[in-house]
Amino acid sequence: MHVTDVNKTPSIFSRTNPFQAKVLKNVNLNGSGSKKETRHIELSLAGSGLTYLPGYALGIIPQNDPELVASLLEEMKWDAETPVVINKEGETLPLKQALTDYFEITLLSKKLVQSAAPFTENEELHKLLSPEHADQLKEYTNGRDLLDMLRDFGPWKATAQDIVSLLRKMTARLYSIASSIAAHPEEVHLTIGAVRYTAHGRERKGVCSVLVAERIQEGDTLPVFVQTNKHFHLPEAQEKDIIMVGPGTGIAPFRSFIEERAVTKASGRAWLFFGDQHAATDFLYQEELEHYQQDGVLTKIDAAFSRDSAQKVYVQHKMLEQSQELFEWLEGGAYFYVCGDKLNMAKDVHNALLEVIEKEGKLSREEAEAYVKAMQEQGRYQRDVY
Ligand code: NAP
Repeated sequence: MHVTDVNKTPSIFSRTNPFQAKVLKNVNLNGSGSKKETRHIELSLAGSGLTYLPGYALGIIPQNDPELVASLLEEMKWDAETPVVINKEGETLPLKQALTDYFEITLLSKKLVQSAAPFTENEELHKLLSPEHADQLKEYTNGRDLLDMLRDFGPWKATAQDIVSLLRKMTARLYSIASSIAAHPEEVHLTIGAVRYTAHGRERKGVCSVLVAERIQEGDTLPVFVQTNKHFHLPEAQEKDIIMVGPGTGIAPFRSFIEERAVTKASGRAWLFFGDQHAATDFLYQEELEHYQQDGVLTKIDAAFSRDSAQKVYVQHKMLEQSQELFEWLEGGAYFYVCGDKLNMAKDVHNALLEVIEKEGKLSREEAEAYVKAMQEQGRYQRDVY
């Protein structure tokens, strides 16, 4: 049983009618000298009727970077105030506002390049669109945005309306919720890694993460909604043990799990595997987690710092080091959770789990796979990976 009853009164706020949540706190969790910037933000849900369970996500509808919008206006010599129609209903907005609030401008799709073709005679673009250059087109769109396309394939015989009509509506960014509403009534907390990198000669910024890192202050509001997640949740039974693997921002839902279990005084044990670059600057929520360990809410914390030693140490290495105990927990019915990077980490952790089961259960690879499959069927292996 959860302490939070999510179904008591449905909120009027949703993806299509987001709630303007006030920012109560916005801090960088990384210490000075870190290569990373991870924001902890606390939002007020007061008056919204919104609530959530551990494992749910929060959607934020972001605004685009004003510098990027200014670069687009400058590149195309567009007037910021020109009214443009933004949707089928015929609503209009001044161009600058439409580019800031309404349209997706940081992603480039094959479809967008194709639909822009009638507005330019640029030979390079038409060549890229020929069937024999499909691979080059795919490579071109990867990591580039609208501004790249407009710069690369002019001159354009297009009005601002012609171009914005090709754009998609801004989509919400979803973040795993990092708090328990039972621990923080009428609040929701998030853990957001600022995404910044250079590609194709330009600095690139994550739309929502950098909005939060650079332009959102305490007292401002953000349009938000709650996204349920049926596939990532605490066990119904309080006495069940949980094993949580959450490196980097993957820690977020586990902070929620731990807070919830502290409030409900769950008797089940909890084991956290955390990882990041450096112990001194990147141990997210270290103090809180250590307090929970002292209080017995968290039974064990194993942290892997990848860049403190010559050889990289990751969460899966910590799992393997403790394979015997890990297997004992699994044999006792523990739930196993993974959150964070999908591309590499989640795969490696999956393989480490198989290795632990194979070794400690004295099973073949096929038998270990069947063991994991059974865990999945029982809902005892859950992932929230992105
Ligand atoms: P992160 O970049 O995932 O880093 C957290 C820790 O995980 C670091 O110590 C990192 O080590 C380590 N790590 C790297 N590869 C790993 C692997 N294969 N197995 C286990 N641990 C591994 O954390 P974050 O900054 O919170 O980033 C999370 C966000 O970045 C997510 O959105 C994720 O999808 C995205 N991301 C994407 C990619 C990608 O290539 N698609 C890669 C990383 C992150 P080192 O960095 O020292 O190797």
